[in-house]
Amino acid sequence: MSEINDRAEALRLKNSSRNLPRIGRLLVDREADSLWELDTKTLPRSCRKWRRKARKFAEDEIRPLALQGDIDPGHFDHTELFRKAAKKGFFTTLFPRPIGSASWRLYLRNAVYVPVIIAEEFAAADGGIALKLMAPNLGIAPVLLSGHLPSILRYFIPNYLSCRFRGKVKTFSFAITEPEAGSDVEDNEGAVTARLGTKARKVRGGYLLNGSKIFISNGAISDATTVFAKLEGEGIESWTCFLVEKGRVGFRVGRHERKMGQRASDASELIFENVFVPDKNVIGKVRGGWPLNKNVLNFSRPAVASMAVGQARGAFESALQFAKKKYIGRKRMIEFQEVQLELAGMVQELWAARSLIRQSLQHFAIPQSIASASKSFATDTAWRVANRAMELMGDEGYLHSNHTERFWRDIRLTQIYEGTNQLNRLAIIEHHRYKDFK
Ligand SMILES: Cc1cc2nc3c(=O)[nH]c(=O)nc-3n(C[C@H](O)[C@H](O)[C@H](O)COP(=O)(O)OP(=O)(O)OC[C@H]3O[C@@H](n4cnc5c(N)ncnc54)[C@H](O)[C@@H]3O)c2cc1C
Repeated sequence: MSEINDRAEALRLKNSSRNLPRIGRLLVDREADSLWELDTKTLPRSCRKWRRKARKFAEDEIRPLALQGDIDPGHFDHTELFRKAAKKGFFTTLFPRPIGSASWRLYLRNAVYVPVIIAEEFAAADGGIALKLMAPNLGIAPVLLSGHLPSILRYFIPNYLSCRFRGKVKTFSFAITEPEAGSDVEDNEGAVTARLGTKARKVRGGYLLNGSKIFISNGAISDATTVFAKLEGEGIESWTCFLVEKGRVGFRVGRHERKMGQRASDASELIFENVFVPDKNVIGKVRGGWPLNKNVLNFSRPAVASMAVGQARGAFESALQFAKKKYIGRKRMIEFQEVQLELAGMVQELWAARSLIRQSLQHFAIPQSIASASKSFATDTAWRVANRAMELMGDEGYLHSNHTERFWRDIRLTQIYEGTNQLNRLAIIEHHRYKDFK
C-alpha cells in the first residue's frame, strides 16, 4: 500500500514536472493553487484584490453573524457591519476613485464589475447579509444609470463622498414591485397591460405620490428609496423615477414579510399617502422610468447570479468538509469515487455558471439577453448544487448549524426576485425576437 502511495505521489504534477526542461515546467499545472485562487487569477489585476478583500471580510465579519441574521432577523443590528463595510470601500464600488472606490480601468470595462465579484464572496458566507450589503447598490443605481448630471451631482456624488471619507452610510432601496404588478414591471409584454397602482400627480413645485410598493429589500432601513410611479391618468410609458427620502410626510413602512430565506434582509411594504416629492427629486427625465428600470435590471441581474453562485459555493464547501470528516465504515466519505464524482459535478456546474456571469461583464452596457441568461442559468444551477450538497450530507445537511440548509433556502429566492427565472428566459427570446427574427 505504501508503495502505491509513493508512486502516486511521484506522479503528481508538482513532483513529476521536475523532470521537464525549465520552459516545459512553466507550461504545466503544478497544482500550486486552490480552485478559488486559480479562478481569482483569471480576473483583471485590480479585481483580484477586491475578491481577496471581500473573501476576508466575509469570513471575518459576515459568517459569524449568519446564524443570528437567519434565526432572529428582528434583532439583527446591521449598524456596525455597515460601518466596517463602508470603511473597506464596499459601499462605493459603483464609481471609480477618488469619488468611489472602484478602479478606472475596471470601471471602463463594466460599471458593476467589482460589485459582481464582491457579491459572490459575501454570499458564500451568508445570502441574507449579502443582500443587505448589496441592496444599497441597487437602490442608488437608477441615479447613476439615469446619466442625468443634476441628479448625479445632487444625490450620488455627495452620498459617495460622505460614505468614503466620513464613513457615513446612507442606504438606498429600489422599488418597482406593486401588489398588482410584479413580473409585469419587468418585461415589455407584461408591462403593456400592467395594472399599476402607484401614481404621481403634478402639483406646484413637484408631485404627490400615492400607492404602495411591496417586497422592497432593505425598505425598512433605507434612508431613501428610488420609487417608480406612473403619472396620473397615464400608463407605464409615463413611468418616472422619484427619489423619496425617509421622513417625508405621508411615507411609511407597512408590513414586513416573514421570509423563507435571505432572512437577515427585510422585505417591506412601502406606503405613500399624498407624499410630496419636489421636482428636483425626479431622477433622470419625467417619463424616463421604463428604460431606466430595464437598464438597472440588466446591471443587477449578473450580481444576483453571482450571489447565487456564492451561496451554492458555500453549500459545496460545507459538503466538502463533511465528506472529508465523515466515515462510512472504515473509509472517509471523500475516498468513495461516487462522492468524488458528485463533488466534481458541483465544481463543474459552479464554474460554468460563473463563466457565464463573467461573460456578461465583457459588455460595457450589459444587454438584456446576457443579463437574463446569466441570472436564470446561475440561479437554477446554484439551486441544483445546493440540493446535491444537502443530499451528500444526509441528516447533517438539515441542521441549521451546518449552514447548508440555509444556503438552500437562500438560493431559492434568487430564482424569484429581479424577475422570476421564467420571465428572465422570456427576456432572452424577447431580445432575439427584436434583433434576430425580424
Ligand atoms: C424577498 C424578496 C425581495 C424582493 N426585493 C425587491 C426589491 O428590492 N424591489 C422590488 O421592486 N421588488 C422586489 N421583489 C419583488 C420581485 O422582484 C418579484 O416578486 C418578482 O419579480 C416576481 O413577481 P411576482 O411575485 O409578482 O410574481 P408574478 O408576476 O405574480 O408571477 C407569478 C408566476 O407567473 C409567472 N409569470 C408571470 N408573468 C408571466 C409571463 N408573461 N409569462 C410566463 N410566466 C409568467 C411567473 O414566472 C411566476 O411563476 C422582491 C421579492 C421578494 C420575494
